[in-house]
Amino acid sequence: MNDIIQNFLKIRDELHHGNLHPTIIAVSKTFPLEHIRPLIDYGHKVFGENKVQEAKIKWSNIKKEIKDLELHLIGGLQSNKAKEAVELFDYIHSVDSVKLANELSKAEEKLQIKRKYFVQVNVGKESQKSGVAMEELFDLLKVCVNEKKLEIVGLMCIPPYDSDPIPFFKLLKKLNTEHHLPKMSMGMSGDYMDAAELGATHIRVGSKIFGVRTSQ
Ligand SMILES: *Cc1c(COP(=O)(O)O)cnc(C)c1O
Repeated sequence: MNDIIQNFLKIRDELHHGNLHPTIIAVSKTFPLEHIRPLIDYGHKVFGENKVQEAKIKWSNIKKEIKDLELHLIGGLQSNKAKEAVELFDYIHSVDSVKLANELSKAEEKLQIKRKYFVQVNVGKESQKSGVAMEELFDLLKVCVNEKKLEIVGLMCIPPYDSDPIPFFKLLKKLNTEHHLPKMSMGMSGDYMDAAELGATHIRVGSKIFGVRTSQ
């Protein structure tokens, strides 16, 4: 059996042994379609990318072919790419400003499509990281839901790279509960078990499925 499929099944079995059933978003960024294809053919349908242009080139055709493929944009999104993102992605995990919410809403209207969204929270208060500040979360959610009519399904976070992720997962869980949101996007190759145990409904796993990336 292909290595990628084996890697995927190992992760799925590990989760199932813990009685955990989050959606596994296979993060295929930087890898060409030939590398990803075995997992699609095996029957996995949920993939994540972090760049709109790269994803368009890679997925536009195959998405027309395989109707139930589900694509997640997990990387930061600039407002000027909102329309392209709404066109291609079923879920966008990186809503973090009113400006972006506004563009996403306009794009939905123009394209006559509804998508699903996570609001990314800057849980580690890192200046360089995208994500809304915790103090601004409530107001942003209000605008997204009440004014922009975006379907916000939950919160997303990327904990600081060099620290224990568990307190940040717990924090996101608390925020999610406070805002009565059903879904939660957290956990990557190094910490998806912890994330799933703490309530992640969507984990984003790249290198542990597809191998080491040689570029961003
Ligand atoms: C690349 C990426 C991942 C996957 O990272 P791995 O450590 O390779 O599993 C998850 N989430 C986001 C936001 C990413 O950019």
